[in-house]
Amino acid sequence: MKTSSADNAPSPRQVLQTQQAGDDRLAEIGRLQQMLPDLPVETLIKEDLLRLGISFSREALQYCASFKSKSYFIFSFDMVSINEMNQQENLHAPEEIQLVDGPWNLRRTTVSVRVNPSSPWNATLDGESLLLRCGEETISTIQLQEIPEYYQKNLASGQPVHEVAPTIEWGYLVYLTVYRKCQYFGFKEECTFCDINENYRQQVSAGRPYRTVKPLDDVLEALAIIDEVDDRSKAYTLTGGSITSKLRGQGEAEFYASYARAIEERFCGRWIPKAVTQALPVEEQRILKDAGIRIFHPNYEIWDQRLFSIICPGKESYVGRSEWHRRIIAAGDVFGAENVIPNFVAGIEMSHPHGYTDPEAAVDSTREGLEFFMSHGICPRFTVWCPEPLSPLVKEHGNLQPPAPLEYHARLLVAWRDCHREHKLPIPPGYGPPGAGQALFSVSSFMDVIEVAAESRS
Ligand code: SF4
Repeated sequence: MKTSSADNAPSPRQVLQTQQAGDDRLAEIGRLQQMLPDLPVETLIKEDLLRLGISFSREALQYCASFKSKSYFIFSFDMVSINEMNQQENLHAPEEIQLVDGPWNLRRTTVSVRVNPSSPWNATLDGESLLLRCGEETISTIQLQEIPEYYQKNLASGQPVHEVAPTIEWGYLVYLTVYRKCQYFGFKEECTFCDINENYRQQVSAGRPYRTVKPLDDVLEALAIIDEVDDRSKAYTLTGGSITSKLRGQGEAEFYASYARAIEERFCGRWIPKAVTQALPVEEQRILKDAGIRIFHPNYEIWDQRLFSIICPGKESYVGRSEWHRRIIAAGDVFGAENVIPNFVAGIEMSHPHGYTDPEAAVDSTREGLEFFMSHGICPRFTVWCPEPLSPLVKEHGNLQPPAPLEYHARLLVAWRDCHREHKLPIPPGYGPPGAGQALFSVSSFMDVIEVAAESRS
């Protein structure tokens, strides 16, 4: 429900709390800069924004409404549910922001927006400039992405292109969530950090025209419109929930392959084709490969053996951790090792009540997984976990729990960067440019920490 401007004005006490919280964040960033001096400060700010979210003043949100807004392309990636948004942030918050210049002289840093009205990170309008502040301290200017031409077009059915084929990573990646739900269902199967099924419900009840399965013809029509007017997008991802039995008569590989096949027949070579699925058996991986998929994301979510079975109970019971890993390695022979890029959810290994409590120990565990896969030429990547209120983990334990500490994320970036460098792996394909000031991948800083000069020397 919308409230008046006066209802939203922070009380003096809230202002003081925000200021204190902001001071605490900046002190922590300062401490980590001293501890890890070769980590770009931009990545510390980016990871903190991703783990804590960002709030918007009413004026800032009004300003943002004229730019590209959040499409809710798969999960909510918010730290409050739509019911708790007093300013309709779900309709007006931007998909991503770019931080530039300002008192901290930041290099351009692209960050996905996670709404959190209580975050010490806040966007505020100063004259014609949108600013990022931490508490009361100004950090940088915020740039927003113009609404792409294809976002203003509809399919013949009236369905907006951006509902069928939204883009993220500043327009680099077309995100095709062709199955909006997951057949891992309920507390005994869903990954505990994931709100895909609940987000579907809240978006539908908020009036967003989500459909469980995107019709193939709609996807092709939306892509044709993008192809006609856009040259910024370079890759697409076919994704959605896991299919443990059948969906419309098809198993998981065939379901996702049917989209890839049709897209590649019509737009061969236009985009880099990527797919996120379970770690499928090799013969099913070949179905995806034969359909044209070039980059395969069999996400393993968390490395730690004990926590995997608790946090990913469906993956544990349907496939099992060792078999999941075996299939990831086997995928190297199908797609080429550099094209197998499994994701993990960075920080979930510190979730309550079962996770690590020490950031160093948590990263030590996760580094084992990095070493394991990278020694096979396979380069995992990660997204930053933010506790989503509709995920089983948070619902099950009542109060919204804190994210992993920033120290964990800082240590992880160093571990990933060093491991990637030691194994002399190529820049992961399908993510756009690497390096601080260049990277577009917006849900973690793994692309920001690749040292481009060192990379080209190796
Ligand atoms: S497999 Fe896990 S992370 Fe993926 S959609 Fe299903 S519940 Fe969510």
